[in-house]
Amino acid sequence: MDREKRPLSASQIATYLACPRKWRFRYELRLAPEHHPAALSLGRAVHSALEALHLARLDGQTIDPAVLVRLFHADWQAEVDTGLSYKIDESPGMLRHMGAELVHQYANWLGDRKVVAAEQPFEIELIDPETGEVSDERLRGYFDVILEGDVIGEVKTAARRFDEGTLSRKIQFSAYAYAWRQMRGRDPTVLVISLLKQKRPEVSEAIAKRTLEDDAFFVRLTLEVAEAIDRRAFPPNPSFMCGDCEYAKACRGFRGDRGFVEVRPPIGDLEFVGAIIPRVLADARKAQVG
Ligand code: SF4
Repeated sequence: MDREKRPLSASQIATYLACPRKWRFRYELRLAPEHHPAALSLGRAVHSALEALHLARLDGQTIDPAVLVRLFHADWQAEVDTGLSYKIDESPGMLRHMGAELVHQYANWLGDRKVVAAEQPFEIELIDPETGEVSDERLRGYFDVILEGDVIGEVKTAARRFDEGTLSRKIQFSAYAYAWRQMRGRDPTVLVISLLKQKRPEVSEAIAKRTLEDDAFFVRLTLEVAEAIDRRAFPPNPSFMCGDCEYAKACRGFRGDRGFVEVRPPIGDLEFVGAIIPRVLADARKAQVG
């Protein structure tokens, strides 16, 4: 990939580290995903409603939670209509209810907090904070919401709270802390706001602390990922994540320089189980009602 055209993002770096082949399928070959996990779509629909709330607050306005929930419902329906894959314990109606509750609770959580920016994109040079060395790689991303006092709010829909290990190491939080310090010359507070998808949905907050040493570690890591991409190092990394991978079929048939070959799906492929079960349950419910 042409380096002029590839500012790396935190999610690119994390994807490469999780599975280099997946990075290549997604960001270089730009393959269409084989399925669309409902969890990601829910996150997008919730995010879209919160974005409207943040932008209104920037204008000194507010939005009634009921209106926010209607915005969420519209976006969620649009996602459902594209055809999503659901896990065994998910259904469109259950996620719709959960998303609405999360949007409502986030609006309460935000309360009177002062929003100073929303959906703010950035693109910066990667500079080693210890040596001052300027690389020719760039980092890009965007901040969900900036709150008063150099607080970077990163909103996540998640099944559970982030544990300390994840909070202290997650690439995305490191990227945001580094970017802020580099752009503003001040220390940020990276506030991770988790919208918890549990039986009783709730909002939980935690701070991801990052130091200058963490910044240096992050810059080095990013440069090594960039070097590996330049060397065309794209091995697959088979793991538990393959069951949910949106390129699982393409991956099974990928033969490097030979391109893609036809392969049969393995028996018991999670991709099919996840997609079919909610439909089976829905059919059973309909039959009961009938
Ligand atoms: S199926 Fe597994 S190994 Fe293949 S691209 Fe996806 S995550 Fe990587």
